[in-house]
Amino acid sequence: MSTGNLVRDDSKPAEGEQAGGWGREIYALTERLFPLHRSITGDGVRRTLQIMGEYVPLSISEVPTGTPVFDWEIPKEWTVREAFISDSHGRHVVDLRNNNLHIVGYSMPIRATMPLQELLPHLHTLPDRPESIPYLNSYWKEYWGFCLSHNTKLGMASGDYDVVIDSSLEDGHLSYGEYLIPGDSSEEVLLFSHTCHPSLGNDNCSGLAVTTVLARLLASRSLRYSYRFLWAPSTIGSLAWLSRNPEAASRVRHGLVLTGFGDPGAFTYKQSRSGDALIDRVVPLVLDGFGPGSRIEPFSVYGYDERQFCSPGFNLAVGRLSRTPYGQYPQYHTSDDNLTFISPRQLGEALAVLVEIVDALECSERRYLNTSPYGEPRLGKRGLFRPIGGSGLSRLEEARLWALNLADGGHSVLDMAGRSRMDFRTLRTAIGELTACGLLREIADADASPSPP
Ligand code: ZN
Repeated sequence: MSTGNLVRDDSKPAEGEQAGGWGREIYALTERLFPLHRSITGDGVRRTLQIMGEYVPLSISEVPTGTPVFDWEIPKEWTVREAFISDSHGRHVVDLRNNNLHIVGYSMPIRATMPLQELLPHLHTLPDRPESIPYLNSYWKEYWGFCLSHNTKLGMASGDYDVVIDSSLEDGHLSYGEYLIPGDSSEEVLLFSHTCHPSLGNDNCSGLAVTTVLARLLASRSLRYSYRFLWAPSTIGSLAWLSRNPEAASRVRHGLVLTGFGDPGAFTYKQSRSGDALIDRVVPLVLDGFGPGSRIEPFSVYGYDERQFCSPGFNLAVGRLSRTPYGQYPQYHTSDDNLTFISPRQLGEALAVLVEIVDALECSERRYLNTSPYGEPRLGKRGLFRPIGGSGLSRLEEARLWALNLADGGHSVLDMAGRSRMDFRTLRTAIGELTACGLLREIADADASPSPP
């Protein structure tokens, strides 16, 4: 069992200056990923994974078109080289070169001249956000279309337009990236982030960048669990991985779908299907430690890839962590979800939260015995209590008392955190200090009964 995780070290992000530094690094990665034109297949995803591979040695899997994946199959690979609408003067009213959202994802090729009336059913706008471009795709139905601002559409005069989509749908592959950090145990923590959205900042360049930097941080640590990072397109990507890796899936003890970390909203945790898995207990306690405002949502059947991991055949203990949930911020799936919508500070804080969740998972099942259980031990002479009495306790002093009181072999660290409402970080610090001075002793599971008085 690893023993080095109870006291924070300098390689981890924390509040303030250090978190700001990590946030800037994550944001810089986000800036590189944002311009790439991703979809559920294609070179945009491959290039994304290549860039992330500069941070961690991830492996890329390629699943051929037509491969059966449970009730689905891997689609044809989509490539788009050029797409525009030009008016009778040759002016490009809409051009893919200006924004990757301008084309409906998986659009079929077309090269035609048509009157505005014929073109209109293929133009998608947001009348309520007239300056914004929506994000749409049509993976499973043959279609072509453009997304543009409502104001641009209103400015299109009647008459003929040249419509060009130079795209192809051909046999190819679906790509996903994977990175496993082995721990002492073969039991795994699965951390998933979706790769399939084009130029959208929060959903989900933020998730890709935060998880990539997290993976690099964890790679140098001694860990109890093995940590599997999986970066794949939504739905068909997670299904492809599940269908090809049943043994790895069976080793998943805890998991999180991670997305939407750059917006200014509070953290929101969506519970796993069971609602009472260990991850469902750990994450809310960690979020409590980061201040008020975080929200806990019960499991629901719609959402991101937790839908697949929590389907009844798998029923994995996978929750979802984000800031503002999808669909609940007005920039969602529009061109306003861009690099100005997300900030280094929010990204750095998300990394700090995730590191704290890892730390909490690592220690949550440990148990300790109080080696001086008859009355409170005298903490002052060990430098663990204030030398001059006064009213009230500091959080750390209170955490030391809780740890001593609940270190009876029957309470895990998670039980201690839940009972005391102490945040993991403070509790872990207290346990580390008390263990260092011999007042606590970690016990193995087989030794989990308290000694008789
Ligand atoms: Zn989305």
